[in-house]
Amino acid sequence: MQYKIKNCEIILNTDCNARCSFCYQPDMETTEASYRMPFKAAAKALYDGRKRGAQVAYFIGGEITLHPELPKIIAFAKKVGYPYIQVMSNALKLADFAYTKSLIDAGANLFKISLHGYNAKIHDDLVGVPGAYAKIIKAFEHIEKLGAETTINYTMNKHNYQTVHKFAELITEKFKIEDFNIIFPHYTGMMKDNAKILKVSVNQAEPYLKKMLKVLEKSKAKVENAILINFCPCNLPEATHLMTEWERPDSVLEDEPMYHLEGYTERIYQMKEELRTKNKSCAKCIYDKRCMGFEKWYVDIFGSREFKPVIKRVKPVNVRPTYRKIKNLKSMKVS
Ligand code: SF4
Repeated sequence: MQYKIKNCEIILNTDCNARCSFCYQPDMETTEASYRMPFKAAAKALYDGRKRGAQVAYFIGGEITLHPELPKIIAFAKKVGYPYIQVMSNALKLADFAYTKSLIDAGANLFKISLHGYNAKIHDDLVGVPGAYAKIIKAFEHIEKLGAETTINYTMNKHNYQTVHKFAELITEKFKIEDFNIIFPHYTGMMKDNAKILKVSVNQAEPYLKKMLKVLEKSKAKVENAILINFCPCNLPEATHLMTEWERPDSVLEDEPMYHLEGYTERIYQMKEELRTKNKSCAKCIYDKRCMGFEKWYVDIFGSREFKPVIKRVKPVNVRPTYRKIKNLKSMKVS
């Protein structure tokens, strides 16, 4: 049976040192401290998370490496006993060996790096920072040398959706990274503002996702976790088992809180469901009861005609996620 890992997801800041034109956040130039979660609030959220049984301290932003107290917050997560401490980053600062070492020495052991192209030209243009791709390669080297793990986020848009299979080849074959996410864009924030030049529909993306799945089948990559985010089963029924965040949790207890830097929490799946909708034909779909539907932001741009009911189960592609095993789960205590 698959054991579901519990996260304590904390938004530490909103400021960022990249300018990704497809970001789901609005364009925020500010670096004011008021847009960063104070240490005390982060420590409280971490403690609360451990009492709930969370095993992963998952820090997100903005770009969290701009938070001056990040090493101290990570050290606190280690002190209260999180087996996994995950840093989500664009890696611009992680190219600095001493800085990466300071985070790993404090306790970080998982780095979720945003890489949005299979080459420097695509990635650097999309994030608006010349040399960003080269810094990611440096960061990969540092993280490996220091004994931590790398995972990757790849957000699809008009400039990279046709080469998603090359991305899969690059990271699984060259970099030997098997924990990654392909994220269908959220049409809000910067992505909404730039939709005219960046938009891609699920139908446009489908043949290239199929190519990517073929690459993974052929390479026999042992992908860790479900890799497709913000898709619905009807988009690619043969890869439903590789999708995450599309179905309701079995119970409200499984709906984990997200800790916002303004001090409030919200239930992640409840929030996602409120942002989603369905069309009439969903009622005929075998996934209707479980599926939360597709994002309203998407419908505002493309309509909902592409979402057609899945009438019967199809043969799944031969790519299986191998879920991360938590070590010493029984002995974990809040210290
Ligand atoms: S319920 Fe609707 S959105 Fe969900 S998989 Fe079926 S057709 Fe797609």
